[in-house]
Amino acid sequence: MRYVFPPAAQVSVPVAGSDALFPVRRVYCVGQNYADHAAEMGADGRQPPFFFSKPADALVPGGDDVRDVRFPPATSNLQHEVELVVALAGGGADASPAQALEWVYGYAVGLDLTRRDLQRAAKDKGHPWDMAKGFDQSAPIAALQPLASVGHPSRGAIWLKVNGQLQQSGDLEQMSWKVGEVIANLSSYVTLAPGDLIFTGTPAGVSKVQRGDLLEAGIAGVGELSVRLV
Ligand code: MN
Repeated sequence: MRYVFPPAAQVSVPVAGSDALFPVRRVYCVGQNYADHAAEMGADGRQPPFFFSKPADALVPGGDDVRDVRFPPATSNLQHEVELVVALAGGGADASPAQALEWVYGYAVGLDLTRRDLQRAAKDKGHPWDMAKGFDQSAPIAALQPLASVGHPSRGAIWLKVNGQLQQSGDLEQMSWKVGEVIANLSSYVTLAPGDLIFTGTPAGVSKVQRGDLLEAGIAGVGELSVRLV
């Protein structure tokens, strides 16, 4: 057997402090997992988690340098969402939160870039979010920190600056659904597998950005990420 053309390269994320790469399978994201961001999006109360996904090749794996990200076409309201990303080295279905935590390989800081105008239109029409969330280069991500380095981060600052000005400032302990609960809940819908990443939601303060802006983001103890929109 042969392929009709060469298959795309395996998408991977660097592992901090190592020359190893984490091979990515799928990228899932949780919506509105911090109460203050849910409120700014018009929701109220603690709702069950809901999920969407991005293509694996939407990732922009980062190192220590500022990474260029192409400003996407077809939007006039691109917004940033800084998120704790959990990476799985195990998987399965219908896990308990405690079992789900045993699948974790490590954590990283990531950005869920969003075409907010397209997302609002999709919400209004009951259309899918794919083109609002899953566009090219919509998921910058820093190097993964292995569990052995960071444990399971459950509190600590999560922040994002635009051109040096603080726009998002929250704490991981504000997550409505904790990491184990998020993975467990997702595993009731799909059988999770090694290589899967889950973006776990963003705190309040999302804002519109423009071509030329510098986005700097971080999570205490997990890492930092810098992106230039070009
Ligand atoms: Mn998000």
